Amino acid sequence: MQDITAIQSALRNQEYSLSTLVAQYLERIESTQSLNIYIDVYDTEIKEQAKIIDEKLAANHPLGRCFGMVISVKDVICQKEKKVTAASGILQNFESLYTATALQRLIDEDALVIGKVNCDQFGMGSSNENSVYGPTRNADNDQYTPGGSSGASAVSVQAGTCLLALGSDTGGSVRQPAGFTGLFGLKPTYGRISRYGLIAYGSSFDQIGLLGKNMAELALALNVMAGMDPMDPTSVDHQVPDYSQALSTSSKPLKIAFFKEAINHEGLDPQIKTAHENLIQKLESQGHTCSPVGFDLLDYIVPTYYTLTTAEASTNLSRYDGLRYGHQEKGQKDLTELVTANRTAGFSMEVKRRIMLGSFVLSTGYYEAYYGKAQKIRRMLKDRVEEIFGEYDLILMPISPMPAWEIGQKRSSPTEMYLADIYTVLANLVGNPALALPLSTHKNGLKFGFQVLSKGFSEEKLLNFAQYYNS
Ligand code: GLN
Repeated sequence: MQDITAIQSALRNQEYSLSTLVAQYLERIESTQSLNIYIDVYDTEIKEQAKIIDEKLAANHPLGRCFGMVISVKDVICQKEKKVTAASGILQNFESLYTATALQRLIDEDALVIGKVNCDQFGMGSSNENSVYGPTRNADNDQYTPGGSSGASAVSVQAGTCLLALGSDTGGSVRQPAGFTGLFGLKPTYGRISRYGLIAYGSSFDQIGLLGKNMAELALALNVMAGMDPMDPTSVDHQVPDYSQALSTSSKPLKIAFFKEAINHEGLDPQIKTAHENLIQKLESQGHTCSPVGFDLLDYIVPTYYTLTTAEASTNLSRYDGLRYGHQEKGQKDLTELVTANRTAGFSMEVKRRIMLGSFVLSTGYYEAYYGKAQKIRRMLKDRVEEIFGEYDLILMPISPMPAWEIGQKRSSPTEMYLADIYTVLANLVGNPALALPLSTHKNGLKFGFQVLSKGFSEEKLLNFAQYYNS
């Protein structure tokens, strides 16, 4: 598939028009309907927008940096006057009043949005099965999940319905589906991209991320989206380097760390383990050094993540009462009954489970024992990771301990699904950037990848590594 640089030069040279390209994407959306990717397709609007850009191209008018970039948007990212529901019944038919800063920046540079895509409800899940719209299917085998929660973002690119997808990553939701669909998936540093207009799940974990087949569009979109936003006080005023430039500089030998405990974990699928061992050898033979380092906190990661994110989710989701907007049940006799009925009908089982767990760990009497302790472990994780980055350029890790699974296979076992997050949640707990890259195909026929993490605000290192690895 052509990357954004090739698309832009083809458009400028009039090899094809943006209208033709958009028509092809729309046809793909039509022919892949059974995968259940899109919630809304903006077909009339995008055709008109493409026509305007074609006219500007013909007249040699200046265009934004992202012209020719057609994107899909996860159903947790707001766009003005478009439906946004977090794949939840509680926000049924809700239309946003404003556009997320990160998305607005892309639109201002002439990127075109083709539609809203499915996801796990409020980003809670690892298989895109937890959605009011039903599961999204993996395009490599429609009996399998594409991962989640940004599962449909991944499939939208995998199935060729757009060039790039916006997802969100609280604990792996961009990287894990990228792995299951053979894509690159970037979770930027916490604070790199504004969260204004991203429906909150765990506010101290969430970041908007990107999924694509090529590094060129990931780097370009990050260039445009990154940077401080007065509307999000957690966005950081840290210089935005030229990420596209980072792709063209040659890679120097890197010091790469990997965790013995991660590679030798009993839960890691043998084929995925072997692929990582081979990868390490390959990187060594290319001149990098790959060193095993100790990480004895590994088994604390999942409990810490679920203690803290459910706590944050329980407070974030308390705003949904169905009174001013969202789902409202009829015929209740008082306010308490009404709010209870709205929330009971609106939230899925998984969301309720997390609200209850979060309320429990925050409750008087248990706060110190769970929430307080988890915060301390988060600090320890951060210190250990900082220490490692004092010595190494990258940390290499698997993405998921298991390959993509069949739809329905893990539905009855939430804890098993939580444990599958063992390798992805660290980057969110410590705030560092992480990039998923394709690695191999499992004997079940589905793809899997690996990830690299780097120091905070050094996404260019990840992009540069990926470009080098890809070439
Ligand atoms: N699977 C993780 C969870 O359910 C990650 C979700 C995410 O990153 N949004 O919490």
